[in-house]
Amino acid sequence: MSRHFNFCSGPATLPLEVLERAREELVDYQGRGLSVMEMSHRGDDFIEIAARAERNLRELLSIPEGYRVLFVQGGASTQFSCVPLNLLGGGGTGNYLDSGVWAKKALAEARHLGGAHVAASTADLGYRRAPAQGEIVLSPDAAFLHYTDNETIGGVAYDYLPEAGDVPLVCDMSSSILGREIDVSRFGVIYAGAQKNIGPAGLTVVIVRDDLLDRARPETPQMLSYRQAADHGSMLNTPPTYAWYLCGLVFEWLKARGGVAAIAEVNRRKAARLYAAIDQSEFYSNPIEAGSRSVMNVPFRLRDESLDQRFLADAEAAGLLYLQGHRSVGGMRASIYNAMPEEGVEALIDFMDGFARRHG
Ligand SMILES: *Cc1c(COP(=O)(O)O)cnc(C)c1O
Repeated sequence: MSRHFNFCSGPATLPLEVLERAREELVDYQGRGLSVMEMSHRGDDFIEIAARAERNLRELLSIPEGYRVLFVQGGASTQFSCVPLNLLGGGGTGNYLDSGVWAKKALAEARHLGGAHVAASTADLGYRRAPAQGEIVLSPDAAFLHYTDNETIGGVAYDYLPEAGDVPLVCDMSSSILGREIDVSRFGVIYAGAQKNIGPAGLTVVIVRDDLLDRARPETPQMLSYRQAADHGSMLNTPPTYAWYLCGLVFEWLKARGGVAAIAEVNRRKAARLYAAIDQSEFYSNPIEAGSRSVMNVPFRLRDESLDQRFLADAEAAGLLYLQGHRSVGGMRASIYNAMPEEGVEALIDFMDGFARRHG
């Protein structure tokens, strides 16, 4: 067997221990004589798998009473519609912080559904940092404040928790959830597509405060309704059972590693090592301001972009996969989520070092 280091932004690398456990249980789940993939989602075994996943996620994030955890489909992109549909039933306007590609997509969908207010934007700065608290201006009719905790493409993150006054704070945490500790009680809604920092593609986690379950616009489709998902244990229709099970295995893996506080420490170390290597070289660069640098996605450029293809080919030959930056920004990007071991980051730094010496 040969496992390469996979720096893909998503679907992203998974812990080897999780894949091995899944393999062990694949054909015959704990002596039941069938695979989790083949079980009824209404049967006792799957209900227990689903409930255990929720319990472990609640424990990992210290989710307080008064919040529902929903396991839904459609990816984070569907949440771009769900948020305004579920929260604007009482009128008002969705307020958005504009920090890059993903924030803009969320904003565009809110506009499509009736209107949105940009409460702060760093577009004029080329998204080299996240908006600062002092720059946020809510509209008088604000119904919520939405922000994107970690811009997966731009490599921009918030180093503070935006203050939204008395309107609910809504966060797209797709590429940073479980990467560091958060105070869930500060949020109205948190959502995250699973395929970055949780598990395989196909599942989306939504954490929603109870009092926000009944603010939906009347035309909200049942399948997009938080209330419906909450009342039906996220099983209004057939859920992606196997993805749910795998996410549960990742939660168990994370608990065994000491939980979110422990992995956050490792994440900080990995990111600090990689940014230091970039900053110390004349050959590589990262344009993001120090306080807004993402711990999860590290974009970087080569001084001479005519070497980009060579860099990628050599990296792949060295077992370092998917380092190409997003097509909208070019350059390189290393996604170093929870499941990327420190050895992977060290291997990347060694490779970058060698490449710079050969071509510098
Ligand atoms: C990947 C990503 C999305 C889109 O996720 P899908 O599950 O593909 O819809 C949205 N927001 C952020 C921050 C992301 O990283």
